[in-house]
Amino acid sequence: MNSVYSVEELRKVPVWVLGAGKSGLAATRLLVEMGAEVFVSDIRPAGDIFDSIRELERLGVTYETGGHQLKGFPIPQFAVVSPGIPSDAPVVAALMQQGRPIFSEIEVASWFYYGTLIAITGSNGKTTTTLWTEHVLKSAGLEAVAAGNVGYPFCDMVLENPKATHAVVEVSSYQLENISTFRPHVSLLTNISSDHLERHKTMQGYAEAKARIWMNQDVGDWAVLPGDDPLVASVSVSTRPRKVPVFLDHCPSGGAGVEEGALWLNLNTTRERIIGLDELPLPGRHNAANAIAASAACRVLQLKPEEIRAGLRSFTGVQHRLEVVGQNGRIWVNDSKSTNVDSLKVALEATQGPIWLIAGGKDKGAPYEPIRELVRERVSRLLLIGEGAKRFEDELGDLVPCEQCSTLDNAVRYAAKEATIGTTVLLSPGCASFDQFSNFEQRGDRFTELVREVVRR
Ligand code: ADP
Repeated sequence: MNSVYSVEELRKVPVWVLGAGKSGLAATRLLVEMGAEVFVSDIRPAGDIFDSIRELERLGVTYETGGHQLKGFPIPQFAVVSPGIPSDAPVVAALMQQGRPIFSEIEVASWFYYGTLIAITGSNGKTTTTLWTEHVLKSAGLEAVAAGNVGYPFCDMVLENPKATHAVVEVSSYQLENISTFRPHVSLLTNISSDHLERHKTMQGYAEAKARIWMNQDVGDWAVLPGDDPLVASVSVSTRPRKVPVFLDHCPSGGAGVEEGALWLNLNTTRERIIGLDELPLPGRHNAANAIAASAACRVLQLKPEEIRAGLRSFTGVQHRLEVVGQNGRIWVNDSKSTNVDSLKVALEATQGPIWLIAGGKDKGAPYEPIRELVRERVSRLLLIGEGAKRFEDELGDLVPCEQCSTLDNAVRYAAKEATIGTTVLLSPGCASFDQFSNFEQRGDRFTELVREVVRR
C-alpha cells in the first residue's frame, strides 16, 4: 500500500471536508476516528441538512453551513471534496492555488483498507455489476462487502467492516477526478456512453476521467474493460495492469465474452464455459455484459468456474432495474433507474413486446433516434409523463399512439384500465426524475406502490 497519509501522520492534522452529504459525513467519521481535526463546510442552509448537522455535532467537529466562508478554519493539510462540487468551484480553485491537495472520499478510505480492492466504474451497469460481483464472491464463502455509490460510502465500510477481505466499490468519475493513490487490484469499466457530458464537456474528457481508475494499477493488477469500444481503446493503450477485454459476440484468447449462447472466459489460454445465457437470472444483453465482467473479476481472484456459475445464478437482481413488481395477466416492470436514452434502449432490448412504455421526466435533451426501431418493433403504447413528455411525442409519435398522462399516477391508472392481458407495462423513463420526484428511488417506489394497488384489486 502506498497511502498519502498513515494513521500517525493524521493525528491533530487540520482537514477540511467540503460537502456534508453522505460521503462527506463518512469521510468526516473516518478522519475523526484517525485523529484528524476535521472542519466541515456545506453550501446548503442549516435548515436543509438537519440530519447532517446532528451527526456533525455528535462527532464534535467544527462546521459551517450556507456557504464556504471558512472563517476561523485553519489552513488545512488537505481537503476532501464531495462528488457534487466541481473542480472549478471557487472554493476548490482557491485551495488548489494555495497548493493544498484535494482528495475524494474513496481516496481517503483506500488509505486504511488493507484487503483486496475491486473498483467498478462506467456509464451504465455499475450498481448491478458491483452487487452481482459482491454476491458471487460471498456465495463462494468470501467476506466481500459492496460499497461506494451503492449507498454505502467506502469510508463507512472501512470503519465498520475493516476485516472484510474484499471491498467491491462502485466509483463515479467525479470521485476518480480526485484520487491520488487509490489502486484497485481489479478494476472494471462497464462501458462509456454520453451521459454526464454537462460536467466533462467532451466524450474524450469523460473517457479520460473514467480512465483514472487504471492510473495507479500496476503490472500485477487486472483491468476488465469493454473490448470493442474505440474510445475506451484510445484511453487505455498505456495502462499497466493485465487487461481482460469483454466482448458480446465472441471470446478471444486473453479475453471474456459470449459464444454459442454461453459466457466464456479465456484468460490463460484455457477456454472456460461459465454459464449458459439462458441460465442468467437477469434479462438482456446488457446484463450478459455485466455478468461477464463480474465473472472475469471473480476468476482473476481465483474463484472456480463452478463457484462463479452458482453465484451468478442465485443473484436476485437490483431494485428499480428491470424489476418485476407485479403480475395480473400483465407484467409490471419497474426500471425507474433508466434515466437516459441508453438505459431506455437496453430496457426495450431486454423486454418482450407488446410493451406499454411509461416514459418521460426531466429531459436531458439527447435524441430518441437510437430507440426508434425498437419502439416500432415492441412498443404498442407510449404513456408520457413529466417535462419531457412533449418531446417524446414529437420524436416518436409517428410510430406509436401516445397518451399524455402528465403524472406517473395517471399513467399507471390508465394502463390498469386499458392494457390488455399479455402486455408488459414498463416504467423506463429515459429521463431524470427531478421534475416530479426527489430521486429515481422515490419514483420507482411510487410506481411499485401504485402497481400493488392495481394487482390487489
Ligand atoms: P449505474 O449504477 O451505472 O447507473 P445500474 O446497474 O444501476 O447502473 O443500471 C442502470 C440502468 O442502466 C439499468 O436500468 C439498465 O437499464 C442500464 N444498464 C445496466 N447495465 C448496463 C450495461 N452493461 N450496458 C448498458 N446499460 C446498462
